[in-house]
Amino acid sequence: MLYIIFFIALSGILFLLLQDFFARKVSKKTTQLNSLLNESAKRTKEKINLDEENVLLNKHLTQTLELYEVTKDICKSLEEEKVFKIFREILKKYIGVHDCQYIKDNADLIKYKDYTIFPLTSVEGSQAMAQKPIGYLAFDKILEEDKDKFLILTQQFLIGLRRAIYYQKVTDLTITDTLTQVYNRRYFLERFNEELRRSKKNKLRLSFLMIDIDNFKQYNDKYGHLVGDAILRQVSKIIRETVRQIDFTGRYGGEELCIVLAETDREKTNFAAERIRQGIAQAVIKVYDEELRATVSIGVSTFPDNANHIQDLIEMADQALYSAKETGKNKVCFCPA
Ligand code: GH3
Ligand code: MG
Ligand code: MG
Repeated sequence: MLYIIFFIALSGILFLLLQDFFARKVSKKTTQLNSLLNESAKRTKEKINLDEENVLLNKHLTQTLELYEVTKDICKSLEEEKVFKIFREILKKYIGVHDCQYIKDNADLIKYKDYTIFPLTSVEGSQAMAQKPIGYLAFDKILEEDKDKFLILTQQFLIGLRRAIYYQKVTDLTITDTLTQVYNRRYFLERFNEELRRSKKNKLRLSFLMIDIDNFKQYNDKYGHLVGDAILRQVSKIIRETVRQIDFTGRYGGEELCIVLAETDREKTNFAAERIRQGIAQAVIKVYDEELRATVSIGVSTFPDNANHIQDLIEMADQALYSAKETGKNKVCFCPA
C-alpha cells in the first residue's frame, strides 16, 4: 500500500516536473516566435520606410537635375547684370521669392536691413575664395522646404557670376592701359571712330583733346622713372575724374593722353579743357616723400569745324598742342576753325 502511495506521489511529482518542463519549452518557443514576428514586422516597416525614402530621394534627384538643367540658362550671358536677371527669374519661378537684389558693395547692405542677406561665397575652391564674398543676395523670404533648392540655384548663379566677372576683367585688361587705367591707344581709336560715326549720323558736335605733360623729362631726370610714372598716373586720375561719363580718355603715347568729348561744341570744350588744365595745375601730387606739381598743355580740334576724318582731327589737335608748347605751356590752344 505504502508502495502504491509512494508510486502515485512520485508519478504526480514527475508529472508536475514534466508539465513545467514542457510549459517552459512552449513558452520559450512562443517568446522566440513572438520575437521573430516582431522582427519581421520591424523589417517590413523598415522596408516601407526605405521605399518611401527612396521615392522621396528619387523625387529630390529629379528636381535637382531639373534645377541644374534650368540653371544652364544662367551661363548663357557673360554680363553680370544679365546673369543676375536670369537667376532672379528662375528664383521667382521655382521658389516663391518675390524680391531679390544683387548687391556688389557691402556698404549698400544697410539699404536692405529688412531683407535676409545671403553672402555669395563658393562652397568649393580655396579657403581664400570661400572667405571673401563676391557679392550678396538680399531677398524677402524663403520657406524652410525651399532652402535646398535655393542653395543649388545660388551655387549655379555663383558659377555664372564668376564667369561674367572673369570675362569682364579679361576684356578690361585688353582695352585698358595698366599704368594710367585709361583706354589703350588701339581701343581709344576704335571708340573715337565709333563716336565720330555717331556724331556724323546724328549731326552732333565732338571735340578731340591731345594732352601732354609739360617738362616731363625733367621729373624723370630729377626723381627717377618711378616718380615719373606716379605723376602720369595721378594726372590720368584727375582727367578721369573731371570728364563726364559719356567722354572717354586714352593714352596716346608716353606721357600723352587724349580725350573725346562727345556732343560738345567749342565753347563747352574750352570750359572743360580749362577745368582739366587748372585741376592738374592746382593739384599737389604726393609721390613717396615728395610733394610735386605738374602742368599740362592741351591741343584741341573739333568736329565738324576743323575736319571730318579722325586722322585729320588728330593731326590738327597735335598742331594746336605744338602751339601751346611754343607759346609758354600750361595752356589750352584750339585749332583755328
Ligand atoms: P614738353 O613740355 O615739351 O612736353 O617736354 P617733355 O620733357 O615733357 O617732353 P619730351 O617729349 O621731350 O619728354 C617726354 C618724356 O616722357 C620722355 C620719356 O622718357 C618720358 N616718358 C614717356 N613715357 C613714360 C612713362 O611711361 N613713364 C615715365 N616715367 N616716363 C615716360
Ligand atoms: Mg610728349
Ligand atoms: Mg611732355
